[in-house]
Amino acid sequence: MSSAVLRFAPSPNGHLHLGHAFSALFTETWARRLGAEFLLRLEDPDITRCKPEFAEAIYEDLHWLGLTWPEPVMVQSKRFPLYAAAADRLWARGLLYHCDCTRQEIAARSSGADPDGAPLYDGKCRVRGLTGGRPTQTRLDLTGALALTGPVTFTVGQPTPLDRPQIRYARPELWGDFVLQRKDTPTSYHLSVVIDDAAQNITQVTRGRDMEPATDIHVLLQMLLGLPQPLYTFHKLILGEDGRKLSKSKGSPSLRQLRASGETPDGLRARLGF
Ligand SMILES: [Zn+2]
Repeated sequence: MSSAVLRFAPSPNGHLHLGHAFSALFTETWARRLGAEFLLRLEDPDITRCKPEFAEAIYEDLHWLGLTWPEPVMVQSKRFPLYAAAADRLWARGLLYHCDCTRQEIAARSSGADPDGAPLYDGKCRVRGLTGGRPTQTRLDLTGALALTGPVTFTVGQPTPLDRPQIRYARPELWGDFVLQRKDTPTSYHLSVVIDDAAQNITQVTRGRDMEPATDIHVLLQMLLGLPQPLYTFHKLILGEDGRKLSKSKGSPSLRQLRASGETPDGLRARLGF
């Protein structure tokens, strides 16, 4: 076995669909080719939307697909103290600040959108302080962070050492002062994913092309926290019949619905090109 480690990291906030199956099979296929380890991780820091029954369904669906992984599975909701400790290191360097703006206030003042289409934050709480008496989230002072790191680059390519990887400049500034710790948890998707990729020694991150812009944030956080940087591979997205990404597409069938309608694991692998 090589020292390469790849992972599939779904969120248990719904049932897996074809897009997830593609990502899982893409990752597992590369892991096998490389003689690498294939890990599963549950990304459930969003405690309002993630549910234990969806986690159980993920295990069941992936086993049905023929995938296996070492136990225990890393579960992010059990790791909040670690994320808080990482954020504390950024607090200590003066890179974070509290923000108590509501979604509506941010939208009303915003003059642009981030790569996800959400209103860009205008930095109000960094400049003028809190309104007070309201729940706060934590934001990264992006200008301060970039002043420390300078330009941030990362490597993109197929997960094989034989590929000629491409060096890219990250553009985290497109996100503005993004939220690092949410109002309801001491973390965010962006913080948890970089902490855990490092904790699991992930050497190649395989993810859909829709994750390319967020990766700019992840490599910045890795640099600020002194974490190793994996190689990034962005795979194609499986689109619904309406041409939209499956998870956002209405009525795209889940793996369990496909299974109930007679789909076989081999048939599904063939349909997805594996
Ligand atoms: Zn604010």
